[in-house]
Amino acid sequence: MREPESSSRGHESTPGRTVYLAELQCFLCGSLAGTIESDRKPLPPYGIWRPADGHGPAQRVADWRSIRCQRCGGALYTETLEAVIRHDDNEELRKEAPRRGRPPKWLVEERRRQREAAESRI
Ligand SMILES: [Zn+2]
Repeated sequence: MREPESSSRGHESTPGRTVYLAELQCFLCGSLAGTIESDRKPLPPYGIWRPADGHGPAQRVADWRSIRCQRCGGALYTETLEAVIRHDDNEELRKEAPRRGRPPKWLVEERRRQREAAESRI
């Protein structure tokens, strides 16, 4: 069991991937609402949505066209689309989606031991 480092370093050897970042601007007030990130072009309706000015965390959306302007509620359109190279592989998104359900292994193990100890007393 001496491998925690190699598993966490795995991503650094990847050359990065190209993603497309589109700025979404409001039709009505013209303010920049945020950016939508996708791995393809032309831009599909789904992608990773990042509200501008820290209005919230990045999140996956099924259709960015349903997102509305934070200021006036107007519809958004893609202002610019630029290709960028990503190396982080959306680590921030993974952090926001904690694994649910399963308790950690050590806890399962401890509970099992307590249960066994209790049973052996009978
Ligand atoms: Zn607006």
